Amino acid sequence: MLPSFFDSMVALIARTSTDLPPDVRKAMAAALRTEAPATRAGQALTIIAQNIDQAASCEGPICQDTGMPTFEIKVPVGANQIWMAGTIREAVAEATRRGKLRPNSVDSITGENSGNNLGPGTPILHFAQWEEDAIEVKLILKGGGCENTNAQYALPADLDHLGRADRSLDGVRKCILHAVWKAQGKGCAPGAVGVCIGGDRTSGYLHAKEQLFRTLDDSNPDPRLAAIEEAVMDAANQLTVGPMGFGGRTSLIGCKIGALNRLPASFFVSIAYDCWAFRRLGVVLDARSGAIRSWLYREGDAPSVPMLTPEQLAAGFPRTGREIKLRAPITEDQIRALNVGDVVLISGPMFTGRDAVHAHLMKHEPPVDLRGGVLYHCGPVVAKSERDGGSGWTVTAAGPTTSIREEPYQAEILKRYGVRVVIGKGGMGAQTLAGLNESGAVYLNAVGGAAQFYARCIDRVSGVSLMEFGTPEAMWHLEVTDFPAIVTMDAHGRSLHKDIEQASAAKLENARA
Ligand code: SF4
Repeated sequence: MLPSFFDSMVALIARTSTDLPPDVRKAMAAALRTEAPATRAGQALTIIAQNIDQAASCEGPICQDTGMPTFEIKVPVGANQIWMAGTIREAVAEATRRGKLRPNSVDSITGENSGNNLGPGTPILHFAQWEEDAIEVKLILKGGGCENTNAQYALPADLDHLGRADRSLDGVRKCILHAVWKAQGKGCAPGAVGVCIGGDRTSGYLHAKEQLFRTLDDSNPDPRLAAIEEAVMDAANQLTVGPMGFGGRTSLIGCKIGALNRLPASFFVSIAYDCWAFRRLGVVLDARSGAIRSWLYREGDAPSVPMLTPEQLAAGFPRTGREIKLRAPITEDQIRALNVGDVVLISGPMFTGRDAVHAHLMKHEPPVDLRGGVLYHCGPVVAKSERDGGSGWTVTAAGPTTSIREEPYQAEILKRYGVRVVIGKGGMGAQTLAGLNESGAVYLNAVGGAAQFYARCIDRVSGVSLMEFGTPEAMWHLEVTDFPAIVTMDAHGRSLHKDIEQASAAKLENARA
């Protein structure tokens, strides 16, 4: 039965996770040309471009969060969907074993990670029949940071800075702009939005996500929706949210809108926000062997066109000469000398910690001495290495995760354990800002999704604690050299995130009409 189907699915997953499609590369290359190289936005986009090329050349995950695997499968009448679903699950487990996917499926009640990306609801499989004598499989890998910025509006509604959004296409336009503004850098901007007008609450979100299977450079066949897509792109890129929410000219690389009929009493606008690491590919398979006949979204099997020249890639992080080097453990005086906007290069020991670690530290002493230390909000992809007789570890992908989830804990952890530097993405809230000031600590924003770039800043894994939380949630002990990040919240009460949110709110007002 379809002897090549399993291998085709593993190939599809691996390539989707490691090699961005040409339309996304083109949009990101245009963004890179738009921002001046020495600005925060320009530096972030250069790191992103390097990361895209590094991931493709080493066939490593573009982002450490390899997302929720969502498959859209079209099969000829009579195809055995039960067998196919089982084989796709096996392929997902195999791609996880090969390090192309991070173990990302967690029991919602116990918090236990299944370790192989399988479990109730994971992966997501949608089958449909068609009249063709071929099988089409499309895959999207959408991570948690951007998934958390999805939004659903029930119209009419009153929106901050935009006023009333009526049950009209103009109301839809306002909802989309509001969602992009709310997302700021948390969903790793510049992102793309899939939108559904109508449906019910569940079909609306599903149809919104389906819009992300359109290419970024296509045109909506419905001229009314095409006009809204264009208007949103224009207005969103004037918001100056910018790459990673650092400010800049590119906030959105795509807006794709669909519509479903609705109940007379309901008018939902559902928005699926995807990050710059917009991993979406597809294949057409021979219906008898399951072998790949052709790829979707890309020209044949040819290698992708690189984002950068070999010289640009070799040059690494684009330095201006103003970067500040810090080696952990770091003193309070060093921290209080830093200001929002400074670019810092961190060396020395660094510890990862995300949701489970933060919750743990509220009730237990840390397993390591964190005084003067660096806490990295990161759930890396880690593989066993040959080092130390095969008992060592290698980090293969290690970008920052969304920090705001740790807001309830962070200030207390800074105070209790003397952490001096927190690194993450998307910024944190007022409680943490006050905590940074009180404890003499600083928040650094790394470039979200740049998992390959940051993995190359890690010299070695010196240990691991709390492994019972699973690979992404454990506390990894890393040794790093010149790990670059930007001070976006300092010890003087200043927050770049707050400033950009306020500045972009003023621009949002301009989009009222
Ligand atoms: S690029 Fe950012 S939002 Fe996208 S999957 Fe990675 S961490 Fe999540």
